[in-house]
Amino acid sequence: MEHGAPTIQMKFTEEQNALRETVAKFAEEEMAPILEEMDEKEEFPQKTVQRMKELGFFGVPIPEEYGGLGMGKVGYCIMLEELSKFDASHPAILGAHTSLGMTPLHYYGTEEQKQKFLVPAAKGEKLMGFSLTEPHSGSDSGSLKTEAKAEGDYWILNGNKIYVTNGKEADQIVVMAANDLKLGSNGGISAFLVEKGMKGFRLGRCEKKMGLHGTSTAELIFENCAVPKENIIGGVGRGFYVAMTALDVGRVSLGAGSCGGIWGALNVSLNYANNRMQFDAPIVQYQAIQFKLADMAMHLHALRTMVYQAAAFQDGLGYDPTKWPRSDRLKKSRDSAVIKCLGSEWASKAVNDALQIHGGIGYIRGTPIERAYRDARISEIFEGTNEVQRMIIAGDLIGRGGFVP
Ligand SMILES: Cc1cc2nc3c(=O)[nH]c(=O)nc-3n(C[C@H](O)[C@H](O)[C@H](O)COP(=O)(O)OP(=O)(O)OC[C@H]3O[C@@H](n4cnc5c(N)ncnc54)[C@H](O)[C@@H]3O)c2cc1C
Repeated sequence: MEHGAPTIQMKFTEEQNALRETVAKFAEEEMAPILEEMDEKEEFPQKTVQRMKELGFFGVPIPEEYGGLGMGKVGYCIMLEELSKFDASHPAILGAHTSLGMTPLHYYGTEEQKQKFLVPAAKGEKLMGFSLTEPHSGSDSGSLKTEAKAEGDYWILNGNKIYVTNGKEADQIVVMAANDLKLGSNGGISAFLVEKGMKGFRLGRCEKKMGLHGTSTAELIFENCAVPKENIIGGVGRGFYVAMTALDVGRVSLGAGSCGGIWGALNVSLNYANNRMQFDAPIVQYQAIQFKLADMAMHLHALRTMVYQAAAFQDGLGYDPTKWPRSDRLKKSRDSAVIKCLGSEWASKAVNDALQIHGGIGYIRGTPIERAYRDARISEIFEGTNEVQRMIIAGDLIGRGGFVP
C-alpha cells in the first residue's frame, strides 16, 4: 500500500472468515460457559487461556517467521471482536499480551530480542504484560519516577509500578523506566524487557475491581533489579515512543472489543425484548425500546467500519516505525484516539441501555448484562482516559490547522 492512501477494508478474505469462525466457536462453546464462575470467583481463567494458546490466539498479528499466525491487525481485531461478544476479561488478557506486550518487541526489537522474547510469546509459551502507570503518574505518563541507572552490563531499576494487567501471571513485562529523570518523555524514558524471576523484581498488591474479574491488576516492585543492557527495546531514551506506538495499536483493538460488546448488548436485548410481555405485548413493540436497539445498531455499524479501516491502515504501514511518514504517524494516532474514545462511550451506552431494557433482572448479580455493565466501564479509562484521547484529537486539529482525513 502507498503511504497516505485511504484504506477501505470491509470485505474479509476466506482466511479471515475462517479465523472468525474458529474464535466464535471457541467463545460460544468453551469460554461462555465458564464466565459466570470466573466472575464470581475473581480468578484468572487458566484453562481457557491454555486453550487460546493452543488455538494460536496468542500470536494472531505476529508474522509466521516469529511464531505467530501472520494475520495482522485486521485478524487481531476479528479475534477481539468475537471474544468480546461474550466477555471482556479474555480480550483484556490478550490485549495486554499482544498489542501492549508484543508490539514493542515486534516493531522496535532487535533480531536477537525477537528470537528470544517475541517468538515464545507469539507461540503462547510466555505471557506478556506492559507497565507504564505509577502511583503519581497516570495520564501524565511522561512524569514517571521508576529509575534506571546504568551499571556495567546492566541497568538497575528501582521504583513501583501499578495496575499492570497480567502482572501476576506474566512471564515477560515491558517496563517503562526513567534513564534520565530530567528529560522526561523526550529522551528520558526507556523500555526494558523484564522477566519473571529476575532478582529484585517482585509482585506487590493485586487489586480487587468492579469488573474484568478474570484479569489480574497488579503492583510491581523493583528493588535494585539488574536488567541486562541487551533487554532495552528501541534504544536508550526511546521508551516513550515505544509505549505510545503500542498504545496506538491497543486503542484500535479496544475499538474492536467495543464492537463485540455492543453486539452482545444488542443481541441479548433483542432476544429479551421479543420475549418479555408487558401490557399484553412484547416490549420490543414499544418505540422507547426500539430506539435503544436502533442506537446500538447505528453505533455498531459505524464503529466496525472505523475499526477495520484503521486496522488495515496500520497493517499497510508495515512494522518499521522509522519508515512511517510523519503524516501517517499523525493519522494513526488520531484515528486510534477517535476509535478508542467513541467505541468505549458507545459500548458503555449500549450496556446501560441493555440493562434498562432488561428492567429489574438486569440489575441482578450473575446475569450476563450485569457483568457486561461492570466490565464495560474500564474502557473509558485504561490505555489513556477518554479525556486524554480528546487531548490527542484536539492536539492533532490544532497542530495540523484543521481536520486532515
Ligand atoms: C483495570 C485496569 C487495568 C490497567 N492496566 C494497565 C496496564 O496493563 N499497564 C499500565 O501501564 N497501566 C494500566 N492501567 C492504568 C490506566 O491506564 C490508568 O489508570 C489511566 O491511564 C489513568 O491514569 P490514573 O488512574 O492515574 O488517572 P489520572 O491521570 O490521575 O486522571 C484522573 C482524572 O483526571 C483526568 N485528567 C488528567 N489529566 C487531565 C488533563 N490534562 N485534562 C483533562 N483531564 C485530565 C483523567 O482523564 C481522569 O478523569 C490499568 C488500570 C486499570 C484500572
